Amino acid sequence: MSGKDRTTLRLRLTATAETIVRKGHPWVFAQSVREENRPGVTGELAVIYDRSDRFLAFGLYDSQSPIRVRILHSGKPRQIDSAWWQNHAAKAIALRQSQFDSQTTGFRCINGESDGWPGLVLDQYDTTRVLKLYTAAWLPRLEETIGLLQGQARLVLRLSRNIQKQAHDEFDLSDGQILRGAPVEGPVVFLENGLRFEADVLRGQKTGFFLDQRENRRNVEALAQGCSVLNVFSYSGGFSLYAARGGAKSVFSLDISEHALAAARRNFALNQDQPPVAQCRHETVQADAFMWLRNSPEQRFDLIVLDPPSLAKRQSEKDDAIAAYTKLIEASLARLSKNGVLVAASCSAHVPAEDFFTLARATARKSGRRFDELRTTRHPSDHPATFPEGEYLKCIYFRFMD
Ligand code: SAH
Repeated sequence: MSGKDRTTLRLRLTATAETIVRKGHPWVFAQSVREENRPGVTGELAVIYDRSDRFLAFGLYDSQSPIRVRILHSGKPRQIDSAWWQNHAAKAIALRQSQFDSQTTGFRCINGESDGWPGLVLDQYDTTRVLKLYTAAWLPRLEETIGLLQGQARLVLRLSRNIQKQAHDEFDLSDGQILRGAPVEGPVVFLENGLRFEADVLRGQKTGFFLDQRENRRNVEALAQGCSVLNVFSYSGGFSLYAARGGAKSVFSLDISEHALAAARRNFALNQDQPPVAQCRHETVQADAFMWLRNSPEQRFDLIVLDPPSLAKRQSEKDDAIAAYTKLIEASLARLSKNGVLVAASCSAHVPAEDFFTLARATARKSGRRFDELRTTRHPSDHPATFPEGEYLKCIYFRFMD
């Protein structure tokens, strides 16, 4: 049955879900759907009506995901036609273009739900854009979506692991596929605050770089003058490069992945024209961070950055994650010199910011050392978070005086 032959998919929700959607939450779970006029098809638009039969919202239906509908619009009734989509895309793209100058050519254009594009991320790296899909609902709409979002020389498709098989079997799409423009030969180089970085757009984590840490890296640059720096969970050396440009004497990049460390070395090579980077001694250490912090030789650092991967992938792992963060901070404090600065970040959405800050402060107090809390940070402006599940990033900065 083609889309034109189908009657509009109309849903009604439980009272609780209705209230949640009315307040602007972008997800409707399968168990919250009380009534469907017919079985929905993944990718089609579902219109949600409230108990009094008034329009509540419309969203993208996904027949296989526990998140059955992802809301595109709620509030006033709207006609969802190609003009609506064009306007929706133009708004999202325009919002970012003015935020960055020519020294930053890598940034997030669309941050999923929080930008009104549920389950869809669009990142820009110089003239390459990377479209990452987290829900199969976009797959049948891909051509139309590309038309709306391309506008650049090249567009790369990335798929979250859970939809890769369906994308391959039903749509002949694969992770890392080039949707428009020339093939990717070698890494894509872009600028972040005037530093050159590689993005591994075909295979790298997320869309190839952790664009969300830009502002924390800037803060680290301002703290690094004369420091010996340890960057734990360094990936491709984002924090390391900023510390070097900020005048660090030496930087250790530590990661479990040799592939990531090789990228960190290449990123240092790309910035040798900047004197402080050229003068900084950079070493890479391939190790498990938990083991290394506990067992390696007694070396102290003036500035330590901790930016682990998500330590709680689901709610049930929250307590273990808190224990792991606590261990990491304790072990780092044992390595931090007098007057040293600790920067601790968390990207686990299941550990709310206040819980993370509380555990970090408690661990700092337990060390018995005098300390100042310098600041806390949350999401940068190109990664807005408008609902609790979308809020994952938080970071806390301390200086330990003795
Ligand atoms: N700080 C980075 C992003 C970190 S992503 C940036 O600014 O770009 C998390 C990194 O942790 C990944 O590179 C991953 O390889 C690494 N990692 C995961 N588990 C690890 C472990 N047990 N020990 C050390 N590194 C680990």
